[in-house]
Amino acid sequence: MNLCDFAPEYIRSIQPYQPGKPISELAREMELDESCVIKLASNENPLGTSPLALDAMINALHDVALYPDGSGYELKAALSKRYAVAPEQIILGNGSNDILDLAARVFLKPGAAAVYSQHAFAVYPLVVQMIGANGISVPALDYGHDLPAMLDAITPETRIVFIASPNNPTGTLSNADDLLRFMERVSRDVLVVMDEAYNEYLPEANKPDSIKWLKQFSNLLITRTFSKIYSLAGVRVGYGLTHPDVANLMNRVRQPFNVSSIGLVGALAALHDAEFVQKSYALNRAGMLQLTEGFRKLSIETIPSYGNFISFRIKGDATNTPKVYQSLLQQGIIVRPLGIYEMPHHLRVTVGLESENKRFLESLEYAMGELA
Ligand SMILES: *Cc1c(COP(=O)(O)O)cnc(C)c1O
Repeated sequence: MNLCDFAPEYIRSIQPYQPGKPISELAREMELDESCVIKLASNENPLGTSPLALDAMINALHDVALYPDGSGYELKAALSKRYAVAPEQIILGNGSNDILDLAARVFLKPGAAAVYSQHAFAVYPLVVQMIGANGISVPALDYGHDLPAMLDAITPETRIVFIASPNNPTGTLSNADDLLRFMERVSRDVLVVMDEAYNEYLPEANKPDSIKWLKQFSNLLITRTFSKIYSLAGVRVGYGLTHPDVANLMNRVRQPFNVSSIGLVGALAALHDAEFVQKSYALNRAGMLQLTEGFRKLSIETIPSYGNFISFRIKGDATNTPKVYQSLLQQGIIVRPLGIYEMPHHLRVTVGLESENKRFLESLEYAMGELA
């Protein structure tokens, strides 16, 4: 036996998360100029960073010799005010993935279980498996979450249910009434994680009153992120809103300085950059229309999306999908293949700038021509 054989089987069998291909990597592989490459693979904000956040972070660089405020006092105070929750209900994370990981570490152990939907965000099975707990994947309904079936899938060992709304990579939204009904029916000894990474991209009419539900349900954890509309994916800041007792447990297992000083000030400034958020929202709405219209013209089937990305289906057998993916790469366009999501016919594209969407659609048309 060598050292690595002593690692638990549930660790050795983990399939690593596959991130979107970085621009520099594709440029190297295809011998392209980096400036010619368009990355629409990781649901990043195409407008770049909020100018207010950028200024705040540049200023904060002078103080990086010091540890960050481990309690995140100012950011929590701002979130507390914005969402009318107590600071004790907020937990900050190194991205919201960190919050998902903390929830798993607090509530799962080998033998325990977590429920999530087929085609749901890939980080859920990952954090469950890291603990050696059992993941229960519930078949999707029209690519979305089948909430009644997820409720039925809960076993006595189940401690967490993950719900992503909108979900990534399908873009599907669970109806607010259905979510509330789910909360009313689920046992209070099961933590429901509502992952709302794309909440800010929803029209007001589609936003659930989830934060209000915190008063009613002590087993609810809402996760949000600064990586998407707030444009700070690179500095890794996310947060969870929950019952103070749950936040307290999560605080015990987090690293004392899990959010960097740069991330803390960037997030605080981004939270207050209403103009940038509004601009990002409007750009996404227009870009989504542009892409949807483009797909329609190419007779390409899509899954209607509430996020800042959309998944589309390549016709014919599943070997066509990697061919289209490769052709797009050769043309300098990075999108995301969805094989690991049990969607081998689909690719996911992030809504970009108008010019990027246009080039993507032209490249896709060319790729489809190559197939024929
Ligand atoms: C992008 C995304 C996140 C956010 O991840 P961060 O760690 O905050 O960057 C969380 N959940 C879903 C479903 C996502 O798509």
